[in-house]
Amino acid sequence: MSKENYIPEFAKKGVLINPANPQPLIRQNAEKNREWEFQPVADKWYPIAEEIKTTLFDGVFTLEKTSPLPSPPIAIEDMRNYRTLASYRIVPDGYGLNDKLTINAQHFVKKENDWGWDWGGDWGLAETITHELAHEKHKHWGDTPPDHGKYFRNLLLDLGIYCTPNGSHYEVARIK
Ligand SMILES: [Zn+2]
Repeated sequence: MSKENYIPEFAKKGVLINPANPQPLIRQNAEKNREWEFQPVADKWYPIAEEIKTTLFDGVFTLEKTSPLPSPPIAIEDMRNYRTLASYRIVPDGYGLNDKLTINAQHFVKKENDWGWDWGGDWGLAETITHELAHEKHKHWGDTPPDHGKYFRNLLLDLGIYCTPNGSHYEVARIK
């Protein structure tokens, strides 16, 4: 066998988990598309969401856990229910996209040339994104059903975020 064709034994057993991850292109488009009213929001919050994921949830890699959590595509759209701040999709959406984070456009208010979040400002939105990313960690690495159960609430509590069994936050988050 020539050296070029050599495939190590472990690689042959490998399963391609995500053959065509569209997230980087979706993100690039969202951050640059000036026809989209929420382009400035995407431009500001994609990097922050990524930072939250890496710092608070990816954790330390081990032999069992060798890759980071996926970086979710972020949608900003009218969720037709003001009581919802955001959501994280457990199952693929209509495009077949996994691990999608949707932020409810109803909570963005235009201030001059900027968008503000009406539920606690930047801090509140960061807290909401953290909540949704905790759902992602729960889905990928938790061993309980994906809900607002004890495992999930403890993920947030460790970060100083107080979450109830119905998923709302009963106090403003504190930095621990
Ligand atoms: Zn939730």
